[in-house]
Amino acid sequence: MDKIKVGVSSCLLGNKVRFNSQHKLDHYIADVLGQWFDFVPVCPEVECGLPVPRETMRLVGNREQQKLMTSLTGIDHTEKMEKWIQKKLPELEQENLMAFIFKTKSPSSGMRKVKIYNEKGNPVSYDGEGLFAKAFMQRFPDIPVEDEGRLKDNGIREQFIESIFILDRWRQAVSERKSSSIVEFHTRHKYTFMAHSPEFLKAMGKLTAAAGNLDINTLIQEYRKQLNNLLREKKTKKTNYNVLLHILGYFKKNLTPEEKQELLRECELYYNGYSPLIVPLTLLRHYTGKYKESYLIKQYFLNPHPAELGLLNHI
Ligand code: SF4
Repeated sequence: MDKIKVGVSSCLLGNKVRFNSQHKLDHYIADVLGQWFDFVPVCPEVECGLPVPRETMRLVGNREQQKLMTSLTGIDHTEKMEKWIQKKLPELEQENLMAFIFKTKSPSSGMRKVKIYNEKGNPVSYDGEGLFAKAFMQRFPDIPVEDEGRLKDNGIREQFIESIFILDRWRQAVSERKSSSIVEFHTRHKYTFMAHSPEFLKAMGKLTAAAGNLDINTLIQEYRKQLNNLLREKKTKKTNYNVLLHILGYFKKNLTPEEKQELLRECELYYNGYSPLIVPLTLLRHYTGKYKESYLIKQYFLNPHPAELGLLNHI
């Protein structure tokens, strides 16, 4: 499998580009995710021409408008940074990134909760965005973004990585320029999408049902809009549980009452927070193989991302 292209703040990969000539290596990102993702490192401060080491920087202004200034000497680097951003964003567009992982709290790379100071040096907001991160998110609103801090949360991590794999499969389906590939994509994600949003699943189902009558570009454009909306809807224990019960329905005739009882109990233990999703999912995978449920075998809900990532063991 080709690695998936993902942008990342350079210091998180261990590159010594920080103000103090150090890095902020994140082993999970670099070593674990690095096995599946082809990272495109970006350091806005170094790439816009600032040296290593350099004075620390901060955002100065108010919630609406900020400048990027050195913390002690008050040198304004906003123009330099903005010029570089204007040049960099079209380059990143060519990279076809499936996601971006930002460094927390940086006045250049932070995607949220960046401190904003007034001219006197007092914080006036704790909810700013770094200049590059803000411009990136405005230019590419449909590319999933997270920061390494939020990725420590198991639920956030799983949904973010799941969306990267979904979007990569979408990219492959679109590259074939055939409505049958879009229909296949939709079919294999039915239960994944149901866990996110039955409403958007339905809307996407209507589009694929009409696929034969739609021009391929219209189909791709309209389907992608709905897919973006759907991915913004987060899965919960309740929505996953609902999908588990739907899948369980396939085995009504095959399972003994004891087996059904065991499966139902595992689904309920998951729903009530006593066991992770991997437990009922493993049982369902087992029965799917045993009873050769060909429709289910292809469902990405049962195998959303590489098992080695172990993401289902913690949600
Ligand atoms: S946070 Fe961003 S600007 Fe700062 S060192 Fe890391 S990549 Fe460079």
